[in-house]
Amino acid sequence: MTGRLAGKVALITGGASGLGLGMARGCLEEGARVALLDLADPPRDLSQRADVLSLRCDVTQPDDIDTAFDEAERRIGALDAVIVNAGVSQNSPTLALPFAQWRNAMSVNLDAAFLTAQAAGRRMVPRGRGAILFTASIYGLVAGPERIAYVASKHAVAAMAKALALEWSPKGLRVNAIAPGYVRTALLEDLIERGRVDAEALVAHTPQRRFVEIEEVARLATFLISDEASATTGLVATADGGWTANGYL
Ligand code: NAD
Repeated sequence: MTGRLAGKVALITGGASGLGLGMARGCLEEGARVALLDLADPPRDLSQRADVLSLRCDVTQPDDIDTAFDEAERRIGALDAVIVNAGVSQNSPTLALPFAQWRNAMSVNLDAAFLTAQAAGRRMVPRGRGAILFTASIYGLVAGPERIAYVASKHAVAAMAKALALEWSPKGLRVNAIAPGYVRTALLEDLIERGRVDAEALVAHTPQRRFVEIEEVARLATFLISDEASATTGLVATADGGWTANGYL
């Protein structure tokens, strides 16, 4: 098997759809075996492959995560990379945001990211190697109105990548985050359908004047978890068509 992840094992949360699924496909193309942790099942073309392990897991539940990590390591091998990707959108005016919805966004986007990273670290730190990659967002670097829990949780995720890089890089791990711009996954299609975001305005604000493609995010992710990025740790890397550089119209 060739590829920049040949022979490696990667675990991806939220790997059954959208960016997580795209990153899973990218890892497979680069020669890795992958474990997908999600509430949902991945498409059949993936679930039937021998190099894919699909596990039902609610990443907000510490016991679920530990069980799934143990099963993944038992069935496909010691983890070389963990992509902490599961997330939900939150998009409503702050004055209309019930505390339960704030908590839900924080629970999936932030608490689960901590729990997943901790589960990864517990296994990787004693071995002295491994790559952890968080899916943050452009909203981990800049803000947007009427999405307070999303912006706050993604800023915290980007910060967590840096904090863990400081803690675990001396022990042989690398910890980074990606900050994708707008990608037309189910998460974004739902916001467009509900009239919560204006697709034309998003494209107009993006210097590249287009949406980001799933494959573009996947290529950045597979690079960052590969040995080619051997000196890269503590980075929050954009794939955003220039969005976060744009302080103009
Ligand atoms: P998506 O809704 O297509 O996929 C999210 C996946 O996470 C789903 O398969 C879902 O079942 C899973 N998931 C949700 N809660 C879970 C839980 N408690 N336990 C296990 N799995 C759970 O969304 P997406 O657009 O692919 O988003 C993936 C990540 O990328 C998220 O962290 C999101 O914030 C981030 N992101 C998305 C965009 C975008 O434009 N789509 C941009 C920047 C960042």
